[in-house]
Amino acid sequence: MFESWNKTGVPSPELIKTRFPDEEVLIKPKAITECYEEIPCNPCETSCPFDAITVGADINTPPVVDFDTCTGCGICVYNCPGLAIFTVQIKDDALVYKIPYEFVPRPGKGDVMHAVNRAGEIIGDCVIERVTFTEKQDKTALLQVRVPRELLYEFVTVRSKS
Ligand code: SF4
Ligand code: SF4
Repeated sequence: MFESWNKTGVPSPELIKTRFPDEEVLIKPKAITECYEEIPCNPCETSCPFDAITVGADINTPPVVDFDTCTGCGICVYNCPGLAIFTVQIKDDALVYKIPYEFVPRPGKGDVMHAVNRAGEIIGDCVIERVTFTEKQDKTALLQVRVPRELLYEFVTVRSKS
């Protein structure tokens, strides 16, 4: 079923959707962990102040998010070394994401950027709503991005237009 992931490195729509809750749940921001491999890693679990992510005793187990407990704060997003987590909320007929961003120069509030899918393709425009970059984020900025509603399972990151 998930053969395309192993061959191309791009997860299939079916695989992607296994990480999302029902859309009704996304009226509040929730963390989505796109961490599909069994790897020895758990900063997502240890960084969450609400204990909303479980990796468990076997550190190779892929993380599971408790969507009832997750507040969408975004702390796990910049603590994930694999840049494999974002948060998403359905809000006012659009999507609001918090994504990790490690390029410089960093964008600013109000910038319009390319919306990009998991294959690296440009799929539309998106708008930067907020940029957070503090000492504790260890060089990973957190971008809050407004994205067209129809890109829910497509959007994953941004690219500069210049
Ligand atoms: S977004 Fe916040 S509450 Fe949700 S899993 Fe990440 S750190 Fe925990
Ligand atoms: S921190 Fe990131 S890469 Fe590591 S287990 Fe959690 S989601 Fe996967």
